[in-house]
Amino acid sequence: MSQSFRTQLVFTIKDRCRVCYTCLRECPVKAIKIINGQAEVINDRCIGCGNCVKVCSQGAKVSLRSVDEVYKLLGSGHKVAACIAPSFPAEFSEIRDHRVLVGMIRKLGFDYVTEVAFGADVVAQEYERRIKSEGYTGDISSDCPAVTYFIRHYHPDLVGSLAPIVSPMVAMTRIVREKYGDDLKIVFIGPCFAKKAESTETDEVMTFLELREMFMQSGIQESAEPSDFDPPVGGKGAIFPITRGLFLTTNSHEDIPEERTVIADGRVNFKEAIKEFEEGFIRNKHLELLCCEGCIMGPGTSPGGKKYARSAAVGEYVREKLSKLDQETWQDQVKRFSSIPLEQGFEPDDRRFEIPSGDEIQETLETMGKYTAKDHLNCGACGYDTCVEHAIAIVKGLAETEMCLPYSIEKLHDSIKNLNISNEKLASAKAALKQSEKLAHMGQLSAGIAHELNNPLGVITMYSNILMDEAPEGESIREDLRLIVEQAERCKKIVSGLLNFARKNQVNLVETDVVHFAQHSLDSILKPDNITATFTPSIEDPIAKMDIDQMMQVMTNLEKNAIEAMPHGGALQVGVEGNKNEIIFIVSDSGTGISKENMKKIFTPFFTTKEMGKGTGLGLPLIYGIVKMHKGKIDITSNTDPSKGDTGTTFRIVVPRNME
Ligand code: ADP
Ligand code: MG
Repeated sequence: MSQSFRTQLVFTIKDRCRVCYTCLRECPVKAIKIINGQAEVINDRCIGCGNCVKVCSQGAKVSLRSVDEVYKLLGSGHKVAACIAPSFPAEFSEIRDHRVLVGMIRKLGFDYVTEVAFGADVVAQEYERRIKSEGYTGDISSDCPAVTYFIRHYHPDLVGSLAPIVSPMVAMTRIVREKYGDDLKIVFIGPCFAKKAESTETDEVMTFLELREMFMQSGIQESAEPSDFDPPVGGKGAIFPITRGLFLTTNSHEDIPEERTVIADGRVNFKEAIKEFEEGFIRNKHLELLCCEGCIMGPGTSPGGKKYARSAAVGEYVREKLSKLDQETWQDQVKRFSSIPLEQGFEPDDRRFEIPSGDEIQETLETMGKYTAKDHLNCGACGYDTCVEHAIAIVKGLAETEMCLPYSIEKLHDSIKNLNISNEKLASAKAALKQSEKLAHMGQLSAGIAHELNNPLGVITMYSNILMDEAPEGESIREDLRLIVEQAERCKKIVSGLLNFARKNQVNLVETDVVHFAQHSLDSILKPDNITATFTPSIEDPIAKMDIDQMMQVMTNLEKNAIEAMPHGGALQVGVEGNKNEIIFIVSDSGTGISKENMKKIFTPFFTTKEMGKGTGLGLPLIYGIVKMHKGKIDITSNTDPSKGDTGTTFRIVVPRNME
C-alpha cells in the first residue's frame, strides 16, 4: 500500500519570521518560499523532516499538533494503545526507570503501552531476509518517512529501489491490532513529524514534546506507579533509532558484512548517498538512510539535545533490556506474529519543477550584478547553495533578489551615496532659500527707504544745484556746494540701486538673439584703455526667451565688476554658449580674484570691498535675484593666488532657453 494522502505538517507564523534564511538553508528540499521578506513553507514541496522547526530560533515554524486529537481518542470509549518509539530513552533521560514513564503514560488514560522496538525486531528480520536473498541488487531503507517522501517527490525514478517493507511503526500498529483487537485505537508517540503523514493505519501520531505537554496539562509526574510495557516486548529493535540502528538490529548482523550496507544520516548526507546511488556509484548495497542524525535527534524531541549522550542513553537501555530478555518468549512472539504482512509498495509522486531556460537564469543573475561565473560567490547567505539555485528560485517565484547579501550590501551603499547627494542638495537648497528670504526682506525694506528718500533727495539736488549755479566763481562756497551736489547724486545712485533691487519680482520674457544681446551689453559699458575686451560667442541657435532689461543689468554689472577688479589693466572676456535647453553667459577677467573668505559674502546686500563712494554692494544681490527669477544658476570660479596660475574670476550664468 502506498501512502497517497498528504497532510500539512509544518506551519509558518509569519509575524515571528525575522528573515534570517536559516530555515531555507537547512531545508533539504528548499520547500520554503521567501515573499515580501517573509519565509513560508510550501506544503507541496515539504517532506515533513521538521528541520526548519528545529533551527528557527524565533519559533516561526510550528508542526501540526495532535494533542487534542489524542485527548479525543482517549475520551472516545474505545480502547487506546500507545506505541512508544524506541528513541524514548534519549528523550526521557531524566526518568531513570523506564517503567515509571510507562506508568505515567498509562495514567493519561491509555489502556495499553507497547514499545515499537518489537516492530523494529520483525522489520529488521524482513530486511535481513531480503539482503541475504539471492539476486539482491541493493535498495534503500524505507523506515524514515521523510526519506521516502524525498524519493517519491524528487527522485521518482528511484521509487522501485525503496525496500518494499513497512516501517517499525506500521508493523507495530498491525501487531498490536492483531493482539488487542480490531477496534483498538492506536497512537504512535515518537521523535518524528513526518510520521504524522506516514500511514492511515495508525490513528494518531504525536511527538515526545507533545507527550510532555500532556503530562504537564494532566499534572502527571514521576511519582506515577511503575509498570512494564505490554507485550509483545521488544528485543534488539530497541537500538533502532540510533545511526546504524537497523543494521545493528538485524538478528545476525555479523552475517551481513558491513560492506554490504551504506549508512548515511542528516539532511546533507542522505541526499548525497541517494545521488551517488542514482548515478550508479553504489551498487548491490543496502542504503540505510535517515533524514535526521538518528531518530534520537528528531524534531519532536526537546531542543538542544546532545547527540552522543542520547545515543549512550539508548545503548544503556538496550544493554539492560537484553540482559533481562527472556529469549525464548521473545522468539515465540516473533514467530507468532511472523504471519503479519510487512510489505508495502511506493508510488512516484513527482514534485520536481521544470528548470527555467538558461537565458532566464542568466537574466535573473544579471539583475543581481552577476554577469560571469567569477561573480558567482556561492556564499550561501541567501539560503541556497549556489547563485544559480537562487536565480532558479527567483524565476519560480520562490525567492527574491534582495536575499543576495553582496547585492543588497552594494544596493545599500548606493542608497547611502544617493542619500548623501540628496542631503547636499537639500542643504544648498536650504541655503538658497535663506538667501532668497533675506533678499525679499531686504527688497521690502529697500523699497520703503528708497521711496521715502527719493523726494527729499530730489529737493536737495535741485536746490543745491541752483545755489551752486548762483554762487560766484572762485568762492569757496561754490566748492562746498559742488560737494553737496556730488554727494546728493551719489545718494540718488544708491537709492535707484535700491529701487532696482526691490522691483525685481517678475520677468517679462521676450524672444532674444542672445549673441546680439551679449555683444550689446559689452558695447554699452565704458572700458578704460588698459582693458582688452573680447567677445567670443559659441552657440548654434542664439534664440532664447528672457527679460532683456533685467538680464542686461546682470551682464553690465558683471562686466563692470570685472573691470573694477583689474585696476592695472587686463583682459575682459565675454562669451555665450548654449545647448538644447540652456544658455550660458560667461564673463571672465584677469583681475584680483575673489578670496575664499569673501566668496561666502559677495551675494550679501551691501557687501563691498570697494572704497567709500565707489561700491554699493548691491550688484551681485541684484544679479542673484534676477537669475533666480529666470530659474537659472550662477557658477563662479576664481583664483587669487598667482602661484596657482593666472589670477582672475569667471562668472557663468546658466539660464533656461525658455523658462515657461
Ligand atoms: P560692488 O561692485 O558695489 O562692490 P557687487 O555686489 O557688485 O558690489 O560686488 C560685491 C563684491 O564682490 C565686490 O566688492 C568685490 O569684492 C567682489 N567682486 C564682484 N565681482 C568681482 C570680480 N569680477 N573680481 C573680483 N571681485 C569681485
Ligand atoms: Mg558691482
